[in-house]
Amino acid sequence: MLGPSGRMGRAVIEAAGSHVAAAVDRPDSPLVGTQVAEGVLATHDIGTALDASDVYIDFTTPAGTRGAAIAATPRRKAAVIGTTGLAAADDEAIAALAQLAPVVVAANFSVGVNLLLGLVKQAARALPDWDAEVVETHHNKKRDAPSGTALAIARSIASGRGVDYDRVKRHTRDGDIGPRPAGEIGVSTVRGGDVIGEHTAFFFGPAERIEIAHRATSRAIFAAGAVRAALWVVGKPPGRYDMLDVLGFTP
Ligand code: NAD
Repeated sequence: MLGPSGRMGRAVIEAAGSHVAAAVDRPDSPLVGTQVAEGVLATHDIGTALDASDVYIDFTTPAGTRGAAIAATPRRKAAVIGTTGLAAADDEAIAALAQLAPVVVAANFSVGVNLLLGLVKQAARALPDWDAEVVETHHNKKRDAPSGTALAIARSIASGRGVDYDRVKRHTRDGDIGPRPAGEIGVSTVRGGDVIGEHTAFFFGPAERIEIAHRATSRAIFAAGAVRAALWVVGKPPGRYDMLDVLGFTP
C-alpha cells in the first residue's frame, strides 16, 4: 500500500492487517525504515514493493498516484486508487495501467455513498426541473475542492438527466450572479475542523425540497471498502472499474 503515514494509509493498514505485504511512503517520510505492519518496514522503493504485492492500494496525492501507476504499468499490477483531485495527466497514467491490469478507481469507497450515487441519479431523472445542488464539508487539511465525492454525486445527477456535466456545473458563486439558470448543477465546499466527510444532494422544487445526505464518522469505512476492492480486483481482466462494480450496484 502507498502512503502509510497518511490519514487513510493508517486506516488501510488497520483494515488490511496481515494482508499488507509492503508499504511505500515518500523518501523524506520519517516512517521509512520503521515497522508499519507486522513484519513490514516502510520503504521508498516502489518497484520492490510492487514486486512483493498482488495489488496495491493508493491514497496519496495526484503526483504519488501518477508515479505509482507509471511504476505499476510494466509490472501489470492490479490497483485500487482512492486519491482525489486527479488531473488529466494522472488519469492518463491510470488509463495506461488499466490497459494491462485491472484497476478500481473510486472517489469514495463507502457502501453508503455508492448507494447514494444511485439514489441521486434516480431523483434527478424523476425531477428534471428541480434545482440540484451538492454541498460537501471536510476537515481543514483536505487539499482538493470540491471533493471527489461531491463531483461524483454531481456527475450522477447530470447522468440521470442525460446532460453533459461540464456544460451545467457551477462550482463557486460570488458577486452579482443574477437569477439561477435552469438546469445548473451547483457544488459548494465547506472546510473546517476534523470532519471526515459529509455530502448532501439537494433537489429544490416549488414549495418543497428533498435532501439526500451521507455523513462519514470514521475513515474505517473507506479503508474497509478499499480492502474489499483489492480482494475483488485481483484476477479480473484488465480495465478500469469503480466501486459500483465491486459492490454489484447498478445505479
Ligand atoms: P494525507 O495527507 O493524510 O496522506 C497522504 C499520504 O500520501 C502521506 O502519508 C504522504 O506521505 C503520502 N505520499 C505522498 N506522496 C507520495 C508518494 N509519491 N509515494 C508514496 N506516498 C506518498 O491524506 P489523506 O487524508 O490520507 O488522503 C489521501 C487521499 O485520499 C486524498 O486525495 C483524499 O481526498 C483521498 N481520500 C479518498 C477516499 C476514498 O474513499 N476514495 C477517502 C478519504 C480520502
